[in-house]
Amino acid sequence: MNVNDSRPAPSSPPSFAIDVVAVVGVGLIGGSFAAALKQAGVAKTVLGAGRQQPTLVRAQRLGLIDKAVSIEEAAATADLILLSVPVGATGKVLARMAPHLRARTLITDAGSTKADVATAAREALGDRISQFIPGHPIAGAEASGPEAARADLYKGCTVVLTPLAENSEADRTLLRQVWEACGARVVNMHPAAHDSALASVSHVPHFLAAVFMAQVAAATDSDKRMSLAGSGFRDFTRIAAGSPEMWRDIFVANRRAVLAELAEFRRVLDHAEEALHDDNAQGLYDFLERAALARRFWGSRSRT
Ligand code: NAP
Repeated sequence: MNVNDSRPAPSSPPSFAIDVVAVVGVGLIGGSFAAALKQAGVAKTVLGAGRQQPTLVRAQRLGLIDKAVSIEEAAATADLILLSVPVGATGKVLARMAPHLRARTLITDAGSTKADVATAAREALGDRISQFIPGHPIAGAEASGPEAARADLYKGCTVVLTPLAENSEADRTLLRQVWEACGARVVNMHPAAHDSALASVSHVPHFLAAVFMAQVAAATDSDKRMSLAGSGFRDFTRIAAGSPEMWRDIFVANRRAVLAELAEFRRVLDHAEEALHDDNAQGLYDFLERAALARRFWGSRSRT
């Protein structure tokens, strides 16, 4: 995996400011970006654009954005734009922006998949593609909408950028500084490597949590089962509550990598099930021990 670490997030106030930042899709991810940049003193004005006016009204009332504008107006006035919409909407939103986009505006996104986003951006922006740097903050929650936004969401998290050959060094540096001002650490990756790794540690876990939740909920005695569920059930199913629209787009966009990971998962599941079927207590113990050690090791190194 080609991952280039950035410098650690700075502790002192940022030495730069951006006049107009626009967020398209002021939900959990976009609202948190807006709040973090305001708190860091990086954004002088934050504009919000999106799909439904009531969402933007709520975002303004919460103080996440200063003003609601159309997607076209955001393109025509902002210096920096974050797209934080479901990945399947990326192409349509960029196509609306393209005719209005100022020459010096930098656009990035927060989508959970990167190869499809880069392809959609190329189609929509054409020879303006140098103005778009794909990105993905590895931070989030199962909650969505502006009410879920938090200024500290990105503190200590990793943001993956998958820059394009056309991007200028100055824009890459600016975007890195912007995310560092939010408290994040930035790494660069190839889009395919990003999508394959995230299929394993994010997309398949969501798929499995949703399948498990659906199976329990469909049981005739599901109420009784769930009344007895404890913290293990809570931890294992938490992510199944995420936005169906957002996750549908992720699975459609990263279908191949998710299917490959599911095949690998099925192979390991078969192996574990075989030990159980054969009453192989030692085999089960060995499998459980390997998993426990791996999870403890990961836990000791991560902030989760
Ligand atoms: P969210 O809270 O549901 O917010 C998404 C926003 O996008 C909503 O405000 C929605 O507007 C707007 N939107 C949807 N379709 C649109 C369209 N066609 N045109 C304009 N605006 C549109 O979702 P989120 O969790 O912030 O996710 C946003 C992006 O971040 C997704 O690409 C997701 O893959 C990525 N991401 C999510 C997480 C996570 O854990 N949630 C983590 C990392 C990255 P309305 O309210 O008006 O419908």
